[in-house]
Amino acid sequence: MPVKWTNERIDINQRRIINGADADVIQLYPMKHTFAWDAYNTGNANHWLPTEIGMQKDIEQWRSSTVLSEDERRAFKVVLGFFTTADSIAANNIVLAAYKHVTSPECRMYLLRQGYEEAIHTHAYQYIVESLGLDEGEIFNMYREVEAIYNKDNFILSFNEGIFDPMFKTGMLETDQKFLENIVVFSLIMEGIFFYSAFAVMFGFQRQNKMVGSAEQIQYIMRDESQHLNFGINLINTIKQEQPEVWTSEFQAHVVDLVRRAVELEVTFAQTVFPKGIFGMNAEGFRQYIEYIADRRLASVALPIQYDVVNPFPWMSEAVDLSKEKNFFETRVTEYQVGGALQW
Ligand code: FE
Repeated sequence: MPVKWTNERIDINQRRIINGADADVIQLYPMKHTFAWDAYNTGNANHWLPTEIGMQKDIEQWRSSTVLSEDERRAFKVVLGFFTTADSIAANNIVLAAYKHVTSPECRMYLLRQGYEEAIHTHAYQYIVESLGLDEGEIFNMYREVEAIYNKDNFILSFNEGIFDPMFKTGMLETDQKFLENIVVFSLIMEGIFFYSAFAVMFGFQRQNKMVGSAEQIQYIMRDESQHLNFGINLINTIKQEQPEVWTSEFQAHVVDLVRRAVELEVTFAQTVFPKGIFGMNAEGFRQYIEYIADRRLASVALPIQYDVVNPFPWMSEAVDLSKEKNFFETRVTEYQVGGALQW
């Protein structure tokens, strides 16, 4: 549609995450969703590139026949295989679906930044594969060949049908709920749950002083991902405020049900990929950790927790606890202006 000729200015009350004033132009002011602008600036301050991280020690350890067991090699590769799909699915969702329907200019600014970060993450996996001389076809095709990865990705992709449809439009209760469901699935579940047993395995390597370059790559990715998740949570909570009619009790029950289904898929993933456990993390530990994470995600959008368990991997909370991480950003951000070393 052509831009309307008018001497009227957009009122801040017309700004909404979806169904807001015209977003033909990224007219940044009046700015309403300041969380998005803050996230955009944090993303820029945290900028990093995979090639800035040394991989020499990883290369030596991978080549050595004494450092890594066969189970550890397998776990490392499967985790990488899952990661290669996760970020690209997230990127596609932003660019091919979500962006189009978001009418908040500052949220669009952050989505542009987020899309680039997803590309950097895919670059990181490529860089690890290349550095270690892994079989690219094996890693990047793993989502078709390892059922537990396939099932997680397929669960996420099955929600594409709604908002990926070229005819899809927000503005009706049903379609607004479809949009909200999309954020729940891609952010709360994909970025908020499905990454986490893979993160735990990578930090398991790091704690053993193994594959530390790869683990550092993943730490940078996790820092970005926790921002993506935070942003997704803000989107959900803001839509709830702006359009309370979409947050029906049925819809809330639907979100809880999706999270519970995701927990089962994630537990199956962890238990089939690491059948003997790894680095002291056993099958029961993984289940409890995933349940603990899922409860946190539910609580973040004011839904009832389902599992009420303690964190069995307390060492992970230092790296992934969102509230701590917020502190971490506030206190440490200047040290990370151009990809300095990470310390947790
Ligand atoms: Fe992400």
